[in-house]
Amino acid sequence: MTLDLRDVVGVPGHSAAFDYSPDFSGLLSDSVLAVAGTPRARGAVRNDAGVLIMRAELDAKLVCVCARCLREFERDVSQVFEVFLSENEAAKDDPEYYRVEGAAVDPGEIIVTELILREDVRLLCREDCRGLCPRCGADLNEGDCGCKPEGDPRLAALARFLDEK
Ligand SMILES: [Zn+2]
Ligand SMILES: [Zn+2]
Repeated sequence: MTLDLRDVVGVPGHSAAFDYSPDFSGLLSDSVLAVAGTPRARGAVRNDAGVLIMRAELDAKLVCVCARCLREFERDVSQVFEVFLSENEAAKDDPEYYRVEGAAVDPGEIIVTELILREDVRLLCREDCRGLCPRCGADLNEGDCGCKPEGDPRLAALARFLDEK
C-alpha cells in the first residue's frame, strides 16, 4: 500500500491515516517461517510543525523457529512505534529518517524494517527453553536424555586443586 502524503508534506497540522494488512513477506527468514492469520497495521503520518512523524500500531502473529530446540512456535507481535520521515534529499543518508519520495510512503515497508531492527535475533519458544542435548540431539524440554553432562573444565581443575589439599 502506498500512502499519499501530498496533503501532509508542507502542511503543518495535517495527517494521513492508514489501517490495513501489510505485506510481511520481507520479514521471513531462517527464524521467521511464516505470517499466521492477517497482520494489521494502523496509524498515521502527521506533519508536526513541519516534521513528518509516522506512528504505527502493529498486531501480527509470526511462525518462528526456536534458536535452542529448533521447534516451531507462534509468536504474537504487538508493537507501537514512531519514526521520523523526511522528503529532504539530505535525509537519505541519515539513519534517523525514512525518506519520502514523490510525497508517498509504504507504511508496511517501514514497519518491516523497524521490526527487523527491533526484534531479537535469537528467538526462543520460551525464556527457559532447555534446547537440545549437545551429545545425542534429544529435546531436553521433553525430559532428560540420560547423557552425562559435560564437565566444566574450570570445575574439574578446582576439584583437582581441592583434592591435593
Ligand atoms: Zn525452544
Ligand atoms: Zn543426550
